[in-house]
Amino acid sequence: MSKILIRGAKVLGGEPQDVLIEGQNIAATGSGLDAEGATVIEAAGQILLPGLVDLHTHLREPGREDSETVLTGTRAAAVGGFTAVHAMANTFPVADTAGVVEQVWRLGKESGYCDVQPVGAVTVGLEGKQLAELGAMHDSAAGVKVFSDDGKCVDDAVIMRRALEYVKAFDGVVAQHAQEPRLTEGAQMNEGVVSAELGLGGWPAVAEESIIARDVLLAAHVGSRVHICHLSTAGSVEIVRWAKSKGWDVTAEVTPHHLLLTDELVRTYNPVYKVNPPLRTEADVMALREALADGTIDCVATDHAPHPHEDKDCEWAAAAMGMVGLETALSVVQQTMVDTGLLDWAGVADRMSLRPAAIGRLEGHGRPVSAGEPANLTLVDPSYRGAVDPAGFASRSRNTPYEGRELPGRVTHTFLRGRATVVDGKLA
Ligand SMILES: [Zn+2]
Repeated sequence: MSKILIRGAKVLGGEPQDVLIEGQNIAATGSGLDAEGATVIEAAGQILLPGLVDLHTHLREPGREDSETVLTGTRAAAVGGFTAVHAMANTFPVADTAGVVEQVWRLGKESGYCDVQPVGAVTVGLEGKQLAELGAMHDSAAGVKVFSDDGKCVDDAVIMRRALEYVKAFDGVVAQHAQEPRLTEGAQMNEGVVSAELGLGGWPAVAEESIIARDVLLAAHVGSRVHICHLSTAGSVEIVRWAKSKGWDVTAEVTPHHLLLTDELVRTYNPVYKVNPPLRTEADVMALREALADGTIDCVATDHAPHPHEDKDCEWAAAAMGMVGLETALSVVQQTMVDTGLLDWAGVADRMSLRPAAIGRLEGHGRPVSAGEPANLTLVDPSYRGAVDPAGFASRSRNTPYEGRELPGRVTHTFLRGRATVVDGKLA
């Protein structure tokens, strides 16, 4: 059985400890552990976290392998410290049947770099008209528990209600992309001062907030679970806070880019900043950080959205929406939440591993770093400083908003069930 000794890492940012991995599991934690026969990783000054879990990843396969595949996407995930990702359903064909989710699940097993949990579509073809085969997807080998039409909003209230009622039977959750379609027709960026000055179609905060308000009420009415994707406004935070104060089963995520970037960047007309939901104002960014710190927002999710060069390197209005995010997520969270004092590393473990695993009902991930647990682990050097160079990305796409920007921290090692997927910052 292979043995790896991680020596002197700060587990969840606490006192330095040794962690011994034997085979697929953590065998022991403590000080001065016996290293005989083990590969030793000297980890003084580094932080050891449970492997990160992403609730919101676009892997693009099947159908858009020019932008990403399950293999390249899971390689990017491993580099970013992730040991599990949820693959969104807006592929071609759409993941709205047991056959397609099983295909994605099987590709994930073959990739070997991180676990892939397929998300099933809520409606057939993401068209919002007819419920997809939710039960069949849940009963399939993929064992789908999270359903989402992400990229599109389930805007029909009756369909949303039925989906929430349906998933209750097997403890599933509907993850809503909250975007009222009529209020966002022709929208190109956040509606506000900057959109007015630039003359670009505005995307009002109320288009997000009105759907969230409706859906938390619907979830409460039918006694089901709803998860809100990529919260982007201060008003959305207020609604989720209110829903939680009522004791309703509502959870929410925020992306790294909404914790750092604002709509002021749209003044550059660089489509790399075009994203759905759009970058908002400084006040929104601050409200999102505070909500992630106080737990109103449960977790960080990347919304990793790879696009090929030709879909992003064009005029603003024609460009696709979305940013890659797996390989920079932890660094952005360190900069916005840890280095600002809003969250400690145990908090990062909670928001990027424990909570997302719990929301997705994902077994074997988001577990404590202790003996007997699966060795899904991420080792981070928080003192590292370096400029982001997309040329070095493991992702097939390069559409990062952070090119050339200095971000703190680097994942040095990632372990998936005891096997190193990343060693010294490089894919194993
Ligand atoms: Zn979305």
